[in-house]
Amino acid sequence: MKTKKGANILSASLGYWEKLAEEYYLRQVNAPESPLKSLIQIGVAVGAINMILCTIMKEYGAAFACLLACCMLLAANFLRLYNREIVAKWLVIISFNAGVMIVSYCVGLRSGVYMYFFPVIFAMIFLIDTKITKELVISEIATIACFGFTFIIAPYATTNTSLSGLEYIYNFRINLAISLVLTGLVAYSILKTLNKKEEDLLGEKSLGDTIFNTSLDAIFIIDLESQLIADCNKRAIELFGINTKKGMFSTPITELLGEAAATRLKAFSPANFTSHSPWFGNMEFSAKDETPIYAYTNIVLFEHQRRRYAKISILDITEVRIAEVETLKAKERAERAAKVKSRFLSNMSHELRTPLNAIIGSTNILHQESHLESQRQMLDVLKHSSEHMLELVNDILDYSKLEADKMELNNVPFNLSELLLKIVGLFKSPVTNKNLSLKYDFEAVKGYVVMGDEMRLHQVLNNLLSNAIKFTEEGMVMVQVQVLMKRSSNITMRFSVKDSGIGIAPEKLHRIFDKFYQTDAETTRKYGGSGLGLAISQYIVQKMGGEMKVESTPGQGSTFSFTITMPIEATKYSYIEEPVEKFEDLQGVRILVAEDNPVNMMIVKRFLAKWNAEVVEAVNGLEALGHFSNQKFDLLLVDLEMPELDGAGVVSRIRKMGSAVPIIAFTAAVYDHMQADLIDKGFNDFIPKPFRPDDLREKIIHYVNRFRVKIA
Ligand code: ADP
Repeated sequence: MKTKKGANILSASLGYWEKLAEEYYLRQVNAPESPLKSLIQIGVAVGAINMILCTIMKEYGAAFACLLACCMLLAANFLRLYNREIVAKWLVIISFNAGVMIVSYCVGLRSGVYMYFFPVIFAMIFLIDTKITKELVISEIATIACFGFTFIIAPYATTNTSLSGLEYIYNFRINLAISLVLTGLVAYSILKTLNKKEEDLLGEKSLGDTIFNTSLDAIFIIDLESQLIADCNKRAIELFGINTKKGMFSTPITELLGEAAATRLKAFSPANFTSHSPWFGNMEFSAKDETPIYAYTNIVLFEHQRRRYAKISILDITEVRIAEVETLKAKERAERAAKVKSRFLSNMSHELRTPLNAIIGSTNILHQESHLESQRQMLDVLKHSSEHMLELVNDILDYSKLEADKMELNNVPFNLSELLLKIVGLFKSPVTNKNLSLKYDFEAVKGYVVMGDEMRLHQVLNNLLSNAIKFTEEGMVMVQVQVLMKRSSNITMRFSVKDSGIGIAPEKLHRIFDKFYQTDAETTRKYGGSGLGLAISQYIVQKMGGEMKVESTPGQGSTFSFTITMPIEATKYSYIEEPVEKFEDLQGVRILVAEDNPVNMMIVKRFLAKWNAEVVEAVNGLEALGHFSNQKFDLLLVDLEMPELDGAGVVSRIRKMGSAVPIIAFTAAVYDHMQADLIDKGFNDFIPKPFRPDDLREKIIHYVNRFRVKIA
């Protein structure tokens, strides 16, 4: 039992040593070459030789000392392999010195073993450091002390009488030869190490120089104390057009880099020199030949050999800057061109409006007056085409505003539900013509008078509704306004227009609000349109502070919606409608029409006469004033642009007379803030040309009613 246990312990310990030996071997094989390793190897070899020599000389004490020194060196090697370099180093020094001292003591000075101190003195340098350090001085002093001490304690010759004089001589020669060879070897190794270090240093310097000179930044090193340029790289010479590097040395910084750089450097306070963070930014310099250099510059401070320096790195961005300026110029040019284009479009649309007014007006008259049944279809075509053309002209005008982001919204009070009802009213007949059902729900906003741009809101809803009807073949179209939040001063509403039409494919939905975008050629062919309506509507809604959204399923229909917040006009907020005397006919209503264009005058007159109003005409502002001072009128329809005296002049004089007669501007010009501007000038409202007869009649009735209630 005991033997089995003993065998187990033995095999376990054998296993342990085996593992240790294997690990030692692996470390030994993989350890990098080092001076310490070479010294240990040489030391063990010399110790072994000496051990043999001493054994031959029958100096067993000395042989034992050699053996001990060898063991200590092997132990030092072990420590070295296990990352105890420093302890190993000192153990090597001790074993060298102690070994030489003891062997000299045993074999006597005559055998010349003390000569091993010479290679040891060199080996110290090799072992500790090639530079003079405290460590090296201590170890050198200790070795020289051991050398001296050896001469004090060691006898001249050994007491061993069997050694002949000749053996001593051989012994001395062998030791002399070995120590000389060793000294030579160690000295050679020291030289080699020094050379290698120098090469490394030179290599590092040349790498630094290469990096310095291949940098794309022009680099200047400035001596901060003297404010002179201490060094610069190749790029700096190129960029600044300096002839030679030498010529640049000791140049004052202001001379080459200018005042700005000098001021920047002075801004670095010397007090907290090391804690300064680098400065970077754009700076302008000028080369020797006065060429301007625009540069991205950074300045870093550093200390070298107790002197303070600044490194200025200059990255030339002149070309980028020129490109920037060019881009800016191109942008300005493009903006100017866009302005010209926008002005042209705006003028054109105004110019187009005047003849269109004549066409639409005449068509309307023909439509409403007796005509042959066979002419009806042609009249319908004429009416629809001219209205379509007017829509396009309006879209182009809006598009030019959108392009230049120049659309301004009005901010005047209007009755929301009245507007919505009016819009729905406009679409009743197209809906009936297509056999669709038109549903609407404005209950939530009934009676609200809000502040905003009535015309633009009308335009957006008009566009959504006409699209909904256009793209729906059967089913319904629905307009709804929901109140999402009502506060004392404003109201947030969601407007939506839903249809059961053709819908839009999901992959096309995200492009639907792009300018000129139409889902496909087939749709364009079938339904027409300019592809501008939604882009303009989205733009208007965004201007109102909302965002147009669309949900759609192909074949099932689409819902376009937007949410906007509008201020509530408190003073006009009314739940109860004012009782007014309604009249459909304009019998007994006296209207002064001031209009210089005979076609327009003819059209207006024809309508007014049709509604039985009494019309007095004036072809310019002065004539209008003349009529006004001699006669009584219920309402004035005044063109804005007239010879002699324009519309605004007429109104201003009438208001100065203290008259509150309703005056409606009649104009082909459409401009931003028009409604507010006209109200400011004293008008009550405006009718854009070409006009819808119903709009004109409604406005006349509305203002005449109010005027009559007031003066009653
Ligand atoms: P237009 O109708 O003049 O072509 P819009 O900007 O109003 O221009 O509309 C762009 C495109 O969006 C239309 O051509 C059509 O393809 C699609 N679209 C707009 N509204 C609807 C709708 N309610 N149902 C289906 N498609 C629609």
